[in-house]
Amino acid sequence: MTIALRKLTKRFGSLTAVDAIDLEIGDGEVLCLLGPSGCGKTTTLRMIAGLEWASSGDVLLAGKRVNDLAPRDRNVAMSFQFYALYPSLTVAENLAYPLYGEGLGAAQIRAKVEQVARVLQLESIMGRKPGELAEGEKQRVAVGRSIIREPNCFLFDEPLSRLDVQLREEMRGEIKEVLQGLRRATVIVTHDQLEALTMADRIAVMRAGVIEQVATPHDIFQKPENLFVAGFIGTPAMNLIPAELTAFDAGNIARFAVEGGQTLAVEVDPAVARLRSGAKVTLGVRPRNLEVVHEDVPDGLSSVIDIIEPMGAETLAHLNDGRHDIRVVTDWRTPLEERDRVHVRFLPGSVHVFDADEKVVRA
Ligand code: ATP
Repeated sequence: MTIALRKLTKRFGSLTAVDAIDLEIGDGEVLCLLGPSGCGKTTTLRMIAGLEWASSGDVLLAGKRVNDLAPRDRNVAMSFQFYALYPSLTVAENLAYPLYGEGLGAAQIRAKVEQVARVLQLESIMGRKPGELAEGEKQRVAVGRSIIREPNCFLFDEPLSRLDVQLREEMRGEIKEVLQGLRRATVIVTHDQLEALTMADRIAVMRAGVIEQVATPHDIFQKPENLFVAGFIGTPAMNLIPAELTAFDAGNIARFAVEGGQTLAVEVDPAVARLRSGAKVTLGVRPRNLEVVHEDVPDGLSSVIDIIEPMGAETLAHLNDGRHDIRVVTDWRTPLEERDRVHVRFLPGSVHVFDADEKVVRA
């Protein structure tokens, strides 16, 4: 079953929490709604579930407008950020609860409960009650309860938010497998980009009630459409350097003047040729696509190492000469010293150019 949103809007008084969004989630597709706190993710999910009325626009399930249907008539399953487990029932009983009234025999119910328990690693706590569970365990029971009935589509609100780091890593992969096995349209709300990048078939990045970009995790990371997506996705964050285009040469080499009087020549997308000389742009380059060298490089930037942060196999260096803060990730073996003056080389083809409207310039 597909989910489609058409110009879906939600206003709370004068606040437009969700602003005319269009989105399609295919049958069996896992889509993550990703964005900062307050951007409208949960409100969008609640409108799909029928827990919130749309101010305007439509929600379509399997092509049918469901705006006026009550949540129970939409046959969608939603797992809440604030899950509600029955405190007097055991984990096994909580899992089985949605199956009562489905006309299944005791053996069928037991088999389904066991299957979900296995997938979500709940087998050792099946006899416990919610009061005896850790937060992460409760969350997994809540997820289990929402998938056990195999509804038409699944809606998850921050499903992994209460798990500890290690369990989170294990669960990301497993939940992805579970969801793919279920072949249902699934929407997952998260503010955690790693969660979105690992679990989603496609990611919709939201900001202030609008969708900034919808694409595969690969494209969201490699081909951000605008400055917001570029800066939001990726850790450490992409470097965003204000610059002015001064020339466009053969071989798609663009020359830029960078604040502080430095100049830079880098290979860019051929579409940059469309910009006039003097155009104000922002250059985006990921910290792993920069190289720190001690010898002068004619077409790179020069700066001073401000802070060195070892990250295990890699080192994060903050370069700051009073004008820009540039983050570079290098192999841990690269010899770096705080206060050293160094040069920064841009790896070919790694620079994104954003125009004055914050849109990427790409062919
Ligand atoms: P978070 O990750 O913090 O939950 P979110 O992206 O899910 O954020 P929403 O919860 O959808 O954001 O909220 C979007 C905006 O709508 C916020 O500014 C929020 O304060 C506002 N909002 C949400 N629900 C209501 C409500 N019932 N009444 C008034 N304003 C609301």
